[in-house]
Amino acid sequence: MATVRIEDVQIILTQPDRSRLAVVKIITSEPGLYGVGCATFTQRIFAVQAALEHHIKPFLIGRDVDRIEELWQMMMVHGYWRNGPVLNNAISGVDMALWDIKGKRAGMPVYQLLGGKCREAAAVYVHASGSTVDEVIASAKNFIEQGYHYIRVQLGAYGGTGSQRTRPEGSPDGAYFDPRTYMRENIAMIGQVRAAVGPDIELLHDIHERLTPIDAIRFAKQVEPFDMFFLEDALAPEDNEWFAQIRQHAATPIAMGELYNNPHEWRMVIQNRWIDYIRVHISQTGGLTPARNLAIFAHVYGVKTAWHGPQDTSPVGHAANLHLDVWAPNFGIQEWYRPSELDYAMFPGLPKIKHGYLYPNELPGLGIDIDEKLAAEYPCQPIIEDWTQTRLPDGSPVRP
Ligand code: MG
Repeated sequence: MATVRIEDVQIILTQPDRSRLAVVKIITSEPGLYGVGCATFTQRIFAVQAALEHHIKPFLIGRDVDRIEELWQMMMVHGYWRNGPVLNNAISGVDMALWDIKGKRAGMPVYQLLGGKCREAAAVYVHASGSTVDEVIASAKNFIEQGYHYIRVQLGAYGGTGSQRTRPEGSPDGAYFDPRTYMRENIAMIGQVRAAVGPDIELLHDIHERLTPIDAIRFAKQVEPFDMFFLEDALAPEDNEWFAQIRQHAATPIAMGELYNNPHEWRMVIQNRWIDYIRVHISQTGGLTPARNLAIFAHVYGVKTAWHGPQDTSPVGHAANLHLDVWAPNFGIQEWYRPSELDYAMFPGLPKIKHGYLYPNELPGLGIDIDEKLAAEYPCQPIIEDWTQTRLPDGSPVRP
């Protein structure tokens, strides 16, 4: 096979809905051959764009598209300082685009290059939420009627229904929440949903690192009778060691990791078998290449995958998740954000859902593309995020 080289690295930014998305498009020396990858770090989207434009692109021009592994390793070490979210997302965009190109050259979907399918489709979970328990139950039942079997249930937003407590005079605006109220209300809600939907439906909940370690232990213990599928991000990565204590006190399955950037963060929780599901955001770790390695590592320790799959992953990233899902022997579950019609129009090939399962298409590569003309009609807005300006009742800033 003749050597195909990287001719251009284009960064496409768009905002079809709430989240700003970044997609890398690699143009090759072979006419008509290109690849796309997800580089979405929605809160710092322009920093990723600059990293790609000024640092990654000049390094890549003229390189051999087939050398994914070598290019990934060199992109990671080339800047000397490494493993940060901006750089990792920039590398991810390139990495996925190169896998897409390799698949197109081979005439095979990427899951074939990984080793082929272990399953035809990936079971997904969806988000049921509401401002009252009745609303959460109604939303969950609606999903069950549509064929979904795995439902994440949340009362209120992350951190619950907010804080009604008196603030100190002069406190700044922000997304206030009360961890104790959140905990009490959501534990009760999970019990009520379990009673309403019966024992067969799988229930999940995302603590979103909103609790202190000792309250996270209490949460995991108190929901034990409700037979959950998993409890997500009970703690922040900074509190990794506390997962040992959660494990000792409760048999509630634990999923962790959408904030992890660095292998040091996930290695100990897997090696010590403190978690049941690893759920990194794959662009945040550097793309398909490190996610494949992580899946294999986790498999050795009996830990399953549950890749992060919300609205702030681009549809290209969702397609990459799905290729890993249908291949990985230790696939656990896939989070699914239920794309809009606009998403399907802007990203031809975006996987489709049927009775709670997500199916890959059989196109070569990642099987997804971007309609750049349509994407340009929805430019990224200069947002200052509100929901991540999180505060405790006394005004103290905390992790969102
Ligand atoms: Mg989450």
